[in-house]
Amino acid sequence: MKLRLNLLAALLVAALSLGAAPRYVFYFIGDGMGMGHVTTTQTYFRDVLKADKPPLMMQFPVAGIVTTYSASSPVTDSAAAGTALSTGYKTNNGMIGMNADTVKVYSITRDLINKKYGIGIITNVAPDDATPAAFYAHVPSRKMFYDIDCQAAEAKIDFLAGASLRGLQDKEGNDTDVMKRLAKNHVTVTRDLNEARKCKGRVLLLGNDSINLNNNDLGMAIDSIKGNPTLPQMTAACLDKLSRDRDRFFIMVEGGNIDHSAHANDGAAVIKGIIEFNQAIEVAYNFYLAHPNETLIVVTADHDTGGMALSGGYSAAKNDLSKIDYQRISKDRFTNEMRAQIDDKTMAFLRWEYYRKTLERDFGLDKVFTLSMDEETSLINRYKQVAGRDIGTIKGLYNVFDHFTNDLYRLFNLSCGIKWISGSHTGNPVPVYAIGVGAEQFSSLNNNTDIPGKILKAGTN
Ligand SMILES: [Zn+2]
Repeated sequence: MKLRLNLLAALLVAALSLGAAPRYVFYFIGDGMGMGHVTTTQTYFRDVLKADKPPLMMQFPVAGIVTTYSASSPVTDSAAAGTALSTGYKTNNGMIGMNADTVKVYSITRDLINKKYGIGIITNVAPDDATPAAFYAHVPSRKMFYDIDCQAAEAKIDFLAGASLRGLQDKEGNDTDVMKRLAKNHVTVTRDLNEARKCKGRVLLLGNDSINLNNNDLGMAIDSIKGNPTLPQMTAACLDKLSRDRDRFFIMVEGGNIDHSAHANDGAAVIKGIIEFNQAIEVAYNFYLAHPNETLIVVTADHDTGGMALSGGYSAAKNDLSKIDYQRISKDRFTNEMRAQIDDKTMAFLRWEYYRKTLERDFGLDKVFTLSMDEETSLINRYKQVAGRDIGTIKGLYNVFDHFTNDLYRLFNLSCGIKWISGSHTGNPVPVYAIGVGAEQFSSLNNNTDIPGKILKAGTN
C-alpha cells in the first residue's frame, strides 16, 4: 500500500512538472538581424504590403533587447555570439563551444538530450557554420570545418540541415572520412526534403551543390532559385519528424543568409530574407497554437550586421521601399554572374547601351530607380573598367565584389532610403521576441549569455 502511495506521489510530481514545462522549444536566430533590419522589414509590411500587422515575431507578447559583445571585442562574430546563445558563456571571436581560456563549455542541447528531447538544428547556410556549430561542437577556430563535421557526426542531433559540409574534402580536394563517420553513427545523408522528413533515426539534409550559392548558402529568397529546400520547408519537415518520433524536442532555426546579404549591404535581400525567416516562425507558431501550454518560441539574433537603417530623409518618397520589389537578384549572385561574364569575355563585347537593359529588367531602372547624370557617368566608368577586366575587387566576408556591382547596389539602396554603416558586424543591440511557456523571462535588457539559461529554465521546470 505504502509503495503504491509512493508511486502515486512520484507520478503526481512527474505529471505536475511535465505539465508546467514546455515540451516543445523553438529557438530562432536571425544571423545579423539587428534592430534596423527588423524595423525596415516592419516598414515594408506597413507601407508596401499594406499589412495591418507587423511581421509575426513582432506580434509576440514579449519583446526585449539583447547585448551582444564578446569576451574579446565589443563587436562579436557569429562564433562567439553563437557560443553565448547556446551555452551561456562569453568567448573570444572565432571560438566555438569553448570559453576564452579554451575550456569546453556545453550547449543547452546537452542538458536537453539528457532529458530525452529530440534535437533539430536547421540553417539556410552551412550546418558547420558558426551558429549551428555552436549547438554541437567545441573548436578553437570556426574555420576547423573537418573537426566540426566530425563532431556533428558524433552529436545526438536527430535532424541537421543546411547547404553543405565544408569538411567533406581536404584542402587538396580529396575526400575526408566525414561521410564514413556519419555512416558509422547511422546518419542518413540526403538531399531530398521528403526523405529527410520520413527518415527514421538521425538525418543530415544538404542542398544541391549546383544550386548552393558560394558553397555555403542554400540560396537567397530574393533570387527564388528552385531546387533547394527553404527555411520554412525545412522547419516543417523537422517538426513533422520530431513530433512523430519524439515525445519532446528542441529545434534551432538559423536565418543564416540574412547575415550574408547584410555583409553585402543588400537591403532588398535582407528584407526578403527576414520575410522567409518569418515564414519559418509561422510554422512554429501554428504548432504553438495547437500546443499553447507546452510550447516556447524564442526569436532573436546573434548580432547586428552592417548597421542597416532607413535614412533617406523626412519625406516618404525618399524612403520608398516599394522599389525593392523591382530588384530581382541578390548582390552576391549578381557579382558572381558578372565574374562569369568577364571570364567568358561576353562583357568585353557588350556596350553599356545594351548592358543597361539588364538594369532596366533587374532593378526597374528609369521606372522606379533613376540615376542622375553624374551617377550614371560614374557607373558607366565602373562598367567599362570591369568589362575590360579591371575588376578592382572589394573583399566581403562571404564574397568578393567587383566595383561596378558595389556601386550599383549602393546607389539602389540609397534610392530606397536604406543606408549602411559598414560591411562588418556592429556592436548594436538586437531584439528578442518570445511567446509561450516561460516567455515573460525575456521582457528585459538581456545579455546574450542569459538567453540559453532562461530557455533551459522554462523548458525543464
Ligand atoms: Zn556575419
